[in-house]
Amino acid sequence: MSKFWSPFVNELVPYIPGEQPKLAKLVKLNTNENPYGPSPKALAAMQGELNDNLRLYPDPNADRLKQTIADYHGVRPSQVFVGNGSDEVLAHAFHALFQHEGRPLLFPDVTYSFYPVYCGLYRVAFEAVPLDEQFQIRIEDYTKPNAGIIFPNPNAPTGCLLPLEAIERLLKANPDSVVLVDEAYVDFGGETAISLVNRYPNLLVAQTLSKSRSLAGLRVGFAVGHEDLIEALERVKNSFNSYPLDRVAQAGAIAAFEDEAYFQQTCQAVIASREKLVGELRGMGFEVLPSAANFIFARHPRHDAAELAAGLREEGVIVRHFKQARIAQFLRISIGTEEQNQALLDALRPRI
Ligand SMILES: *Cc1c(COP(=O)(O)O)cnc(C)c1O
Repeated sequence: MSKFWSPFVNELVPYIPGEQPKLAKLVKLNTNENPYGPSPKALAAMQGELNDNLRLYPDPNADRLKQTIADYHGVRPSQVFVGNGSDEVLAHAFHALFQHEGRPLLFPDVTYSFYPVYCGLYRVAFEAVPLDEQFQIRIEDYTKPNAGIIFPNPNAPTGCLLPLEAIERLLKANPDSVVLVDEAYVDFGGETAISLVNRYPNLLVAQTLSKSRSLAGLRVGFAVGHEDLIEALERVKNSFNSYPLDRVAQAGAIAAFEDEAYFQQTCQAVIASREKLVGELRGMGFEVLPSAANFIFARHPRHDAAELAAGLREEGVIVRHFKQARIAQFLRISIGTEEQNQALLDALRPRI
């Protein structure tokens, strides 16, 4: 605290990202990064941008990238918003779409912990809606008047997927507020709701290149929705930072979308490893929630999750543990390479 701070800074409760350890040798299964590198074509495109042109500002509207995403998803470029990671896209959405006096934003009680942080930053009142006993979102619980609804699909950190049919029911039940579907993990087994944006003007879908396209270090995310929603995001963005995506990021993101074969191959590898790991963990007595993401959420009936996480750490394997009461006995484990997953199992087995 300092007398120089704007008073509201005292009240902020910032997000705490998963650890990025400086030790290189760790088996890092704690922040849902992709274990396979980015597309070689994306890397080459980025190398190609490292030249004298860096003295020039990038395209403030990222028109080529928007066109690429629009073509990929079968929408118009005016229905696409891009930002510095989907976290920035989400932040602008909270600011531009969810500040409605007297009505709360609704999201699940167990979900991405950045949502309440943005509520604090932008003074958005919210209500956490409990997941059911199986940790599933129940659409029927999202009927009260609201300023908007947001959830990841698949949800984080549970990995559980909501079918498109349920999302459609939610959109129909809430025609007067925006439903933001955060699809950070959709490419690992879900079906995108982008196919619904032309029928539902209250639907905004956010995606990221950080997970399925293995570019977490580049910081590129985007949203797709009705032009009116995109215009709100552009107005906020252009009042904040004209150039959130640099030249290297725009070139790398475009090339990543153009390398469909590499994208499919690496997503399939992650999915296959996930199914194998789930089987092994269940064999060791873990209860593992059904996952459509590049991570799993698991608990053991006889072993404390915090102790397991600490034990794994001693063996150089890091996973994520959340202290929130309802999920304090779970571990969230990112899917690694076959070797990394084996290292996890080897470190766990003597402790079970
Ligand atoms: C990883 C993640 C994001 C943020 O991704 P970035 O594009 O890297 O900012 C957003 N939502 C959820 C649920 C995530 O897990």
